[in-house]
Amino acid sequence: MRKRTGIAILGSTGSIGKSSLDVITSMNEHGEDYYVTYLVTNRNVDLLYQQVKKFNPKGVVIIDEERAIQFRSYLNGGGLKVYSGQKGLMEVMSGGEFDVLISSLVGFAGLRPTLTALEAGKTVALANKETMVVAGEIVNETASKHKANLVPIDSEHSAILQCFTGEGKEWVAKLILTASGGPFLNRTKKELENVTVEEALNHPNWKMGSKITIDSATLMNKGLEVIEAHYLFDLPADKIEIVIHPQSIIHSMVEFVDGSIKAQLGVPDMKIPIQYALTYPERVRSKYPRVDFTKVGQLTFSKPDIEKFSLIKAAYDALREGGTATAILNAANEAAVDLFLRRKIKFMQIAEFVRGALDSIASKRSPDIEEIFEADRTAREFVYAEMERV
Ligand code: MG
Repeated sequence: MRKRTGIAILGSTGSIGKSSLDVITSMNEHGEDYYVTYLVTNRNVDLLYQQVKKFNPKGVVIIDEERAIQFRSYLNGGGLKVYSGQKGLMEVMSGGEFDVLISSLVGFAGLRPTLTALEAGKTVALANKETMVVAGEIVNETASKHKANLVPIDSEHSAILQCFTGEGKEWVAKLILTASGGPFLNRTKKELENVTVEEALNHPNWKMGSKITIDSATLMNKGLEVIEAHYLFDLPADKIEIVIHPQSIIHSMVEFVDGSIKAQLGVPDMKIPIQYALTYPERVRSKYPRVDFTKVGQLTFSKPDIEKFSLIKAAYDALREGGTATAILNAANEAAVDLFLRRKIKFMQIAEFVRGALDSIASKRSPDIEEIFEADRTAREFVYAEMERV
């Protein structure tokens, strides 16, 4: 049996957060000893309250101050510590008693708290890919300086980590990231012009939050994952490839110098990579569904259409440029996706605005964290100004 492990979840009421709590329950049913110490949510205090009753954490953080007041009114006494706002969040990230942080806030908002937990020497199981995209170098330096472990939850990166086990880095020829292709794989570029929010939110294989689901429809998700893979596994852009694999059974592959390829397979369920991140480098039993190859029938592969899904190219361009370019790419995308979800812009304008931001805003080499925040702000302002303009 493993040692008793305290878990804090940043984004407990989101898709990854809810699955993480299921994983903890399941592992404990299999004789492990994981317990929840802190739950962090932005606004969803009703679900947070249900989670508190079930998992009995030491404390909670509610980032939205008004919702924190609402949450406090649910409690009558008891020992639960309620923190609120960015200040409360940083207090828990820097001084809270936990062993592992599951970092699953959406977008840029996850960067600061994740860095703070790494500075405190905590192990971070990272689901928030934007953190690596905008500040990969700083995240890696912080982790190594404070001897903190960083383990990916993203299914592709979990797959690569599993393929790397027992291998030397000098033997790796390239990474092959698989992509489902999203809901619009077989639409023409013309047909993409008028797709609705509802169609874009209807992912064929994965059930996820709305931001990442839109990123999967534009294929920006895969572009962000190329950048994430670069920083996690220290390989250049030209050694990271994308292949479309609509069944989402192979979660990614590594090709070695002798021509051998290792792949990691499984049903598309985030509980499997979440659990692996928590037990790495060991494994624990689970009852999650297994792949029945006779039912799957075929695994197919094709090249991504960069012309149609131009955000893939934008992501490679930003990665090659380096510095704050990836932060500009990410911020412009977050702002544009937000506008699309609010029905202010059309689907294809997401890619247009991101390209515009990349081409119009000069990037800075080797940025510090404040320069990254500034690049983030500038790119968001650019996108909102573009929306007004067109
Ligand atoms: Mg992924």
